[in-house]
Amino acid sequence: MDLAIPYHLENYIDGALAPPSNGKFIENINPATAEVFSHTPDSDDTDIELAVSAAKKAFASWSVTPVEERFKVLNKIAELIDANLETLALAETTDNGKPLWLSKRVDIPRASSNFRFFATGILHFSTESHNMEDKVINYTLRQPVGIVGCISPWNLPLYLFTWKIAPAIAAGNCVIAKPSEVTPVTAYLLSKICIEAGLPAGVLNIVHGTGPGAGEAIVKHPAIKAISFTGSTRAGERIASLAAPKFKKLSLELGGKNPNIIFADCDWKKMMDTTLRSSFANQGQICLCGSRILVEEFIYEKFKAEFVERTQQLTVGDPMDPSSKQGAIVSKVHFEKVMKCIETAKEEGGTILCGGNAVRPEGRCANGYFIEPTIIEGLGPACNTNVEEIFGPVVTLQSFRNEEEALQLANECNYGLAATIWTQDISKANRVAAKVEAGIIWVNCWLVRDLRTPFGGMKNSGVGREGGWEALRFFTEAKNVCVEI
Ligand code: NAD
Repeated sequence: MDLAIPYHLENYIDGALAPPSNGKFIENINPATAEVFSHTPDSDDTDIELAVSAAKKAFASWSVTPVEERFKVLNKIAELIDANLETLALAETTDNGKPLWLSKRVDIPRASSNFRFFATGILHFSTESHNMEDKVINYTLRQPVGIVGCISPWNLPLYLFTWKIAPAIAAGNCVIAKPSEVTPVTAYLLSKICIEAGLPAGVLNIVHGTGPGAGEAIVKHPAIKAISFTGSTRAGERIASLAAPKFKKLSLELGGKNPNIIFADCDWKKMMDTTLRSSFANQGQICLCGSRILVEEFIYEKFKAEFVERTQQLTVGDPMDPSSKQGAIVSKVHFEKVMKCIETAKEEGGTILCGGNAVRPEGRCANGYFIEPTIIEGLGPACNTNVEEIFGPVVTLQSFRNEEEALQLANECNYGLAATIWTQDISKANRVAAKVEAGIIWVNCWLVRDLRTPFGGMKNSGVGREGGWEALRFFTEAKNVCVEI
């Protein structure tokens, strides 16, 4: 299989690769070098229409294809992702700027496990039946929704793209999927893998393009019955406003501003090692990163000293270099946004404890978009810096006196995606977990993933749940059949 990155990427529609109908392309830029390395289709509603026709054709047979057959092809896709780990990881790093070791260790393996999990998941997916005193039996028939749209962001490109696509096709739907125009390459390579794996034509259609272009054409198309979206709260709001009046099923996984709550009785070493990762992994560009670090007053100064020292040791540099702990920020636009947020923090009266500057590595990355991991203190919970998502290597420190104050600070902002709690007191951990307004809570750990569990946020972090049965339920319609005996 040829997985080289071509000069022009193509859409994957009706089982074949094709350029966009309008002949327009967007430049793909390697953020570590600021160089253009390929071009992505700037597709529009004509391509979405072609994809929908292909999906309609395929749905008749795919929706009734035995689950064992669906299992085989999804599992084959997982195997091919594993077999091409090195190539996919290199493509992801070139596209996104994240360290190559991270693409290899996390992003690509998690993409193949998405396919493997839902390949087997659909074999075990069952429905309920309710018996009414032996007079009536109700049973729930779960059928594929039909044609569904999956739209994903740039931060974990193949991982989040497959997280949506795998359950959708496992459940018997046909999919129109759009990766981020900022990081399209691994999605393009996935097209080739699907062809090689023998996925029937039209079951998955990957259409590249911008949010307002191809993205909105997916959301507005009347034949597309459900939209699974991961991205910013701003885009989620727009998508909801377009899809809700059409009564489409909606799953919105949006932004976060996650609290990392550190109590004095924590396991210090484990907390410190993990907090470095949860703050700065992937340059802080994971929706689940803890960006507001709340530390019990009693240990605040000790925490600050060690955390700043350890952060200063994180090497920022060429993502291809195994010693780089931090790679490039995904794009020039995002780099400028993060730098502006750091300026705002200063204007708000924040103190930069470390970082705060752009980095210019020597050699091939001299023009890339790199930022030092940055720690800020001295800002109250209502400041812009503590309220708005930055989505970069920037965290703030705040201290709290007791459990009640920790919860008040944690719940102060309008996001509610994830939270991390550090304490050795199991009762306190459970009390706080129950009261923190977030959909995902980690106690004494971070980013541990069990694919069977529900995943999603509260408040401005979105609606709906992905993961495990929740995803298979989202991608099926429940029909109740009531039978009188
Ligand atoms: P984004 O909202 O700009 O784009 C996400 C995707 O939506 C892209 O494919 C984009 O082209 C498309 N899009 C944008 N506007 C659209 C529109 N009007 N209609 C249809 N599609 C549209 O987000 P981003 O900058 O790519 O990603 C970063 C954001 O994603 C952050 O806010 C981050 O927190 C969030 N995120 C959330 C989760 C989660 O699970 N909750 C996971 C990862 C990232």
